[in-house]
Amino acid sequence: MSASHDQHHPMTLSGELRMDTGVIINKCYQCGKCSAGCPLSSEMDYPPSLVMRMLQTDDPKNYDKLLKSMTIWLCVSCEMCLTRCPMEIDIPRLMDNLRQKSVRAKKTNPQAKKIIAFHKSFLDSINYTGRLYEMGMVVDYKMRTGAMTQDVMIAPKMFVKGKLNPIPEIIKGRKKIAEIFNRVQNNKEVKL
Ligand code: SF4
Ligand code: SF4
Repeated sequence: MSASHDQHHPMTLSGELRMDTGVIINKCYQCGKCSAGCPLSSEMDYPPSLVMRMLQTDDPKNYDKLLKSMTIWLCVSCEMCLTRCPMEIDIPRLMDNLRQKSVRAKKTNPQAKKIIAFHKSFLDSINYTGRLYEMGMVVDYKMRTGAMTQDVMIAPKMFVKGKLNPIPEIIKGRKKIAEIFNRVQNNKEVKL
């Protein structure tokens, strides 16, 4: 809650999100282009346009569902949704904010543990912005090829072995990625 907010009216969830991210939830008119363009949409419990709809309800139950969702962890910040959105709604920014809130509220989906561990190691290890897309590709690859609950470490092994074409050409830091995954696998510090 912000002190600047009208004291007589408790802040709505969408109001809070707007304060935190600058995103105006109600600008979404449910055209569905974000979900159609999202590469992870089919794996998500709530595709991006539904996330928007749920936030528009301002219903704490829906908000809770989102904090516990896999969606927020499957979003790889590729910005495809943002590119396609006629209202230029920054869904990746919202997702990032929801991830932070999910962790803070200790509501993270148990199935997301490995992704979260990866996020953490990734952020600790290398420059966030410069390498974010590579993480996206790893998770994207994983989501396209196997069940979430299976070994999330398969993709980087394939990176290292150069079996994942044409990704090895794109990713210059394969050795680094392998190191990160080793750290994730042996990471005793990740507690969720
Ligand atoms: S940024 Fe997230 S929600 Fe948007 S298209 Fe990419 S994966 Fe989907
Ligand atoms: S593309 Fe934009 S306006 Fe359309 S549903 Fe998605 S967020 Fe809403």
